Amino acid sequence: MTAQLIDGNALSRQLRADVARRAAALKARGVTPGLAVVLVGDNPASQVYVRNKVRACEDSGLHSVLEKYDADLSEADLLARVEALNDDPAIHGILVQLPLPRHIDAQKVIEAISPAKDVDGFHVASAGALVTGTPGFWPCTPYGCIRMLESIGYDLRGKHAVVIGRSNIVGKPMALMLLQKNATVTVTHSATPDLAHFTRDADVVVAAVGKRNVLTADMVKPGAVVIDVGMNRDDEGKLCGDVDFEGVKEVAGWITPVPGGVGPMTITMLLVNTLEAAERS
Ligand code: NAP
Repeated sequence: MTAQLIDGNALSRQLRADVARRAAALKARGVTPGLAVVLVGDNPASQVYVRNKVRACEDSGLHSVLEKYDADLSEADLLARVEALNDDPAIHGILVQLPLPRHIDAQKVIEAISPAKDVDGFHVASAGALVTGTPGFWPCTPYGCIRMLESIGYDLRGKHAVVIGRSNIVGKPMALMLLQKNATVTVTHSATPDLAHFTRDADVVVAAVGKRNVLTADMVKPGAVVIDVGMNRDDEGKLCGDVDFEGVKEVAGWITPVPGGVGPMTITMLLVNTLEAAERS
């Protein structure tokens, strides 16, 4: 079997066109959706991420503000900036790029963001909304995975979904979203013995680990849907996921590539959340 690709670039183009259309409709009513991106320090990867986020906003007709600060910005000053953005009516979404310098308590900063502007979905209020199934912002990466499953018309009801990884930003929210979509969910992690025992029974596998070849062909049920969140480098320095793509694509029914899979969807869902924050306001 050769799996069908779930193309994150194509789906992103479609969703971003919808964001642009809805943003134009809001603008016509005098509201331009606005995202503030706050970057502290000069982490090279973070600089690339924030640049891409700002560019994606501009391309979709959203207003964006990039606030850059030196690595020695104090926690108190950062909290004061977040407060000011909370009160700024031109800003509907606030994103503080992680990681923050060590002297700043990242969780404290995230908790300072108004839940109404928490478009990253990292605030405890957003996490609580996801747990209880009430309205709130869903974290962008797992939300993007759900949209990819929806794009192929996949009905999760009654299916067994296995999530590999339990981070607060991907694995745990992913599991809760799959549960909300009526899948039976197994969450696995570094202390899970015999990972293959679980994945071989899975109709859907989401790999969010950060290690190459965590999922190989012998660990996958024929026809399963495989979503690869991982971002790693191979021996030649090329971007690759957690899944042995070449092997697994011969067994799975559907698979997401890296690059061109979950990556573009993460920024797309940030745009969707920002637009929705503006619509709700
Ligand atoms: P993380 O915080 O490091 O979490 C990794 C998880 O994997 C942990 O829960 C860990 O278990 C688990 N794990 C480690 N080794 C394992 C193993 N051998 N078997 C099973 N589970 C194992 O990472 P993250 O932030 O969730 O990110 C995961 C990957 O996704 C990274 O490659 C990251 O770059 C990528 N990512 C991509 C996007 C995107 O937009 N495409 C967005 C976010 C993240 P323990 O909890 O027991 O340590």
